[in-house]
Amino acid sequence: MGKAIIIGSGLGGLEVALMLAERGHQVVVLERQRQIGGCMQSYRRGTLSLDTGLHYVGGLHEGGALNSRFGRLGLMELPWKRMDIDAFEEIHTPQGTYMWPQGIDRFIHAMHQYFPRQEKGIEKFRQLMTCTDEEWMQKTCAWDYLSSIITDPELIEVLSAPAMCKMELRKTTLPLFTFVHGTTPFVESSWRLDGDGNMLVERLARQILLHGGQILTGKEVTELTEVDGKIAAATCLDGTSYNADIFVSDAHPAVTMHLVRDSRIVKKIFRRRMDSQENTTGMFSLHLQIKPGTIKYFNRNIMVTGRHSVWDNAVGDDYTVNGIMISCPLADVVDEYATCIDILTPMSWNAVRKWEDSHVFRRTEEYKQMKQSVARQCISMAATVIPGLEGAIENTYSSTPLTYRDYNATPQGSAFGFRKDYQNPMMTIVSARTPVHNLFMTGQSLMLHGLHGVTMTAWQTLRGITGE
Ligand SMILES: Cc1cc2nc3c(=O)[nH]c(=O)nc-3n(C[C@H](O)[C@H](O)[C@H](O)COP(=O)(O)OP(=O)(O)OC[C@H]3O[C@@H](n4cnc5c(N)ncnc54)[C@H](O)[C@@H]3O)c2cc1C
Repeated sequence: MGKAIIIGSGLGGLEVALMLAERGHQVVVLERQRQIGGCMQSYRRGTLSLDTGLHYVGGLHEGGALNSRFGRLGLMELPWKRMDIDAFEEIHTPQGTYMWPQGIDRFIHAMHQYFPRQEKGIEKFRQLMTCTDEEWMQKTCAWDYLSSIITDPELIEVLSAPAMCKMELRKTTLPLFTFVHGTTPFVESSWRLDGDGNMLVERLARQILLHGGQILTGKEVTELTEVDGKIAAATCLDGTSYNADIFVSDAHPAVTMHLVRDSRIVKKIFRRRMDSQENTTGMFSLHLQIKPGTIKYFNRNIMVTGRHSVWDNAVGDDYTVNGIMISCPLADVVDEYATCIDILTPMSWNAVRKWEDSHVFRRTEEYKQMKQSVARQCISMAATVIPGLEGAIENTYSSTPLTYRDYNATPQGSAFGFRKDYQNPMMTIVSARTPVHNLFMTGQSLMLHGLHGVTMTAWQTLRGITGE
């Protein structure tokens, strides 16, 4: 078996690295950051371990969408904890409060109870949740479809609210496929890790090393050199160079294509396509350090929506927060009390564009004030459903799309990579194969994002490489 270089140690990169190492390839992962994991990494602030891109996962139950794939990667051995069976999502809209129970039948039953007049639409939604016609779902607009089967806007809001921080809820582009994949597995079963996201990253890394692989950090790949029609070497910013037979990039596809800028094979048109493809919105993440013994841990997510619909509600250049997701990580629970609460709200690149020339740890005062203002709005929205929250906060830590851009090299700090468009699925879904026969891609921009999507995509990349 040949040597394989993996560029980037996000979930996708580590999964492909492990699968290749298990199949006898000599694997070297090159990661530009000092820490591995990309969006999945956690970082420490005082006594807290703060997660970036892992709050919960769907479909880990026996027979579930992610169970066997995670099992084959050794990830089912991690301490997964099931979220509240009767209410894993709690949704507060200006009109009411709604609980989502786990299990498709129980969920549908609950929706019938809340919206007895929407019987037909709810039954169609049930069928949608188990639909297997991927091609039709890729070509269908999620918003149009929901509006065609459901006549009560409040029900659409309730069915969509949990997706607000799991995908870009954009009326004019979001394919039904993305919506269903970000909904059904979670309704079937939803889980949190009893620990931080690093656990998952470290587990994958350990297995890669056990199979003889290497993971090198502080290695930003700046060029992929092409010789005789194939990639021969990856050169890093520090001048080191690594030869291999196969190259797999977990970096954003536009970043990957810049690495092969002198290629004779990759046509300008392909590079331009990767460069010009639009990215999904970013995310504002707020971590609240909670005073000991003040707020009880809650084993569910809480969504609070504002006056505007959750569709197209990202914080834009008016810096108004229109809806939040509140999550309570298990990692830091002490005696059933939370020590950390996370709040997320979608934030567009427009909101931070004017500071795009600044870098992490060197931001302007104006940027810091903007973050504080958004954080205050998030907290006051959360306080409407968590009594005593404001007085229970010891410290706050926040990040914006600029943070994600700087840490993960994701253009525009996009939270979920390339925007998929139901009107043009062939152009917005990207193949793991590239025009260079020994260069492959993986990661959230290709087909689907999230732990589920990235894992499915990793298998596709493997198939592209090994044909299995
Ligand atoms: C705020 C937020 C919350 C989320 N919550 C959830 C959740 O609860 N559940 C869920 O399922 N999903 C969630 N997600 C999505 C999920 O985290 C991502 O889809 C997934 O982690 C992306 O993995 P990836 O491998 O595609 O890319 P990334 O994590 O972006 O990894 C890419 C890696 O490549 C490296 N890299 C880039 N360029 C180079 C280079 N030139 N040389 C070397 N290395 C390079 C980067 O540093 C990075 O480590 C969330 C995402 C965000 C932003």
